Amino acid sequence: MSGIYIHIPFCKKACTYCDFHFSTTFEKYRSEMVTAICSELIMRKETLQDQIIETIYFGGGTPSLLTEEELNIILSTIREKFEVSVDAEITLEANPDDIDVSKGEAWGRLGINRLSIGLQSFHSESLQWMNRAHTVEQSLACISIAQAAGINNISIDLIYGLPSMSDEVWREEIRTALQLGVQHFSAYCLTIEPNTVLSSWVKKEKIQPATNELQNQHFTILQEELTNAGFEHYEISNFALPSFVSKHNSSYWKGAHYLGVGPSAHSYDGKYRSWNIANNQRYIKGFEENIPAYEFELLTKENRFNEALLTGLRTKWGVSLVELEAIFPLTPLFYKQLEELKEQGWLEVRDEVMYLTNEGKSWADKIAQDLFV
Ligand code: SF4
Repeated sequence: MSGIYIHIPFCKKACTYCDFHFSTTFEKYRSEMVTAICSELIMRKETLQDQIIETIYFGGGTPSLLTEEELNIILSTIREKFEVSVDAEITLEANPDDIDVSKGEAWGRLGINRLSIGLQSFHSESLQWMNRAHTVEQSLACISIAQAAGINNISIDLIYGLPSMSDEVWREEIRTALQLGVQHFSAYCLTIEPNTVLSSWVKKEKIQPATNELQNQHFTILQEELTNAGFEHYEISNFALPSFVSKHNSSYWKGAHYLGVGPSAHSYDGKYRSWNIANNQRYIKGFEENIPAYEFELLTKENRFNEALLTGLRTKWGVSLVELEAIFPLTPLFYKQLEELKEQGWLEVRDEVMYLTNEGKSWADKIAQDLFV
């Protein structure tokens, strides 16, 4: 299974917490960006030669800012140059303020069959604090608008662990979201990333980050509410109704090959990982001059071992000890750490596969690091 990711580096506003690559001043060069993305798809088509494309994912940034024509140019290039499965999952990330019936219908015409909506919250203060471009009314209305346009595989993003967010407010957010009738949730704990507005607020002591206890408590509430509502917790931040697991994101966690195009996008072909320059002008220039700006690394056995742990432990599929051993021999130190994590109640092993317990899910990255080569 292979996938294509397209990074659209445009946003209306800069959210306070965001460290993705994007620009808010893109109108002058938006068509050059679409042309450069298509040039990259054509230039790198050999990367996924002889492979069927099962998933296409427009991420960003804000892909819902693209017009029907711009999306069509990119999708037509993909369909022309790659072998795309007839039932490929084609996802578009959209922000609530970009969703209207005519856009939804246009997305349907293009074959986009899944929306991932950056809704984040139903509270005005939280949306303003995060500098989101949409309102609570838009958060509440966007799902029914998308459904009216015929899209019935919808995921929403929510953010928890804001410093001022109480348990009650968070529980209410989830319950409001559940009433919207979506099939998938991605819920992220707010983190303070370097070079964001939030990190400057922390440095200036304008805000006090939430404690780990508060964030873990929110995570527990999230698990309770969504699993009680019939959602499967299939990855630390992701919950789905049966048969609505994101195929695209799951393929990353299962080590599938993918091609990422657009500024800052990453690719993986089983041996090499590469990443494009995170600079819009230099990205475009690179394709105009036929000298693409990217870097790559050959993954060592140690890299592949550690990545298998880091990604696999986050999922319901866990990490097979047999498959790990095939990458790099398991040492006595590894088994010692494994026993300690089991005794702590954070990890369990069934049929030679390691899984995080519900408690361990709060410490996924730390647990993986304890087991790294
Ligand atoms: S819309 Fe998304 S990508 Fe753009 S700044 Fe906000 S969080 Fe970042």
